[in-house]
Amino acid sequence: MVLRFDDLDRARAHRQYIDSALRDLTWLGLDWDGEPVLESSRLERIEARALELLARGLAYPCVCTRGELVEISAPHGAEPRYSGRCRGRFQDLESAKSETGRSAALRFGVEGGAVEFVDENFGPQSIDVAATVGDFPIRRRDGAPAYQLAVVVDDDLDGVTEVVRGRDLLESTARQILLQRALGLSKPTTFHVPLICDPSGKRLAKRDQARSLEELRKAGARPERIVGFIAELTGQLDASEAGRKEMTSEELRARFDPKKVGTEDIIASASSLLEDNPP
Ligand SMILES: [Zn+2]
Repeated sequence: MVLRFDDLDRARAHRQYIDSALRDLTWLGLDWDGEPVLESSRLERIEARALELLARGLAYPCVCTRGELVEISAPHGAEPRYSGRCRGRFQDLESAKSETGRSAALRFGVEGGAVEFVDENFGPQSIDVAATVGDFPIRRRDGAPAYQLAVVVDDDLDGVTEVVRGRDLLESTARQILLQRALGLSKPTTFHVPLICDPSGKRLAKRDQARSLEELRKAGARPERIVGFIAELTGQLDASEAGRKEMTSEELRARFDPKKVGTEDIIASASSLLEDNPP
């Protein structure tokens, strides 16, 4: 179990958030192997991989601004498809800059055809990256590595063999496989899990005022109550345990059965966590 902080978004990744995440995880009774890893400590190695793809002709400079990308993309879908406007346009990063006066991002050039893989929870997948998102960024215009590249380089360096994450990243897996193949990196298995949504069907996220663990802790919630809530939401309780509210992390870890999680999003309201201990 590797604890890694994807702290490349420097504006948001302050030390205080890392400390508070460490505090929350420890309070819940979770632990991990070795020291936590900061993705920002790998910047040079991730950058080297981006430049390797550029040198091999598998990636190219793109000077499109965010506004231009929206304009030239089809208006439907959450993630617009890149038109390939800058493909073959520039010799290298320097000429992109001198010809346009803009700093360039790097895009990975996607060849057509479906990427096939088997997700351990969602089953066989066939995703045509060229037809859905097209050539995708591996380095942003401000020089920061893009998520898709950073995560495959990190997983390889950390020796990750199994990735468990939200189903909103299922489509990303195909892009990551293309990068793993191009760079000769290890390919972990994936197990995508459903999202936890509020009663209106929206994914629970901090920006939507979902309660943070810190708030729950300060309001008097017990860690065993939160772990018990997770056990219930993810289908881990037997029929004979109906009404059971508390469980330790240790017990849940020992009996957790991933097959019981299912693929349907889970509707939850965190307000019940405080019922027994009103603030
Ligand atoms: Zn472009």
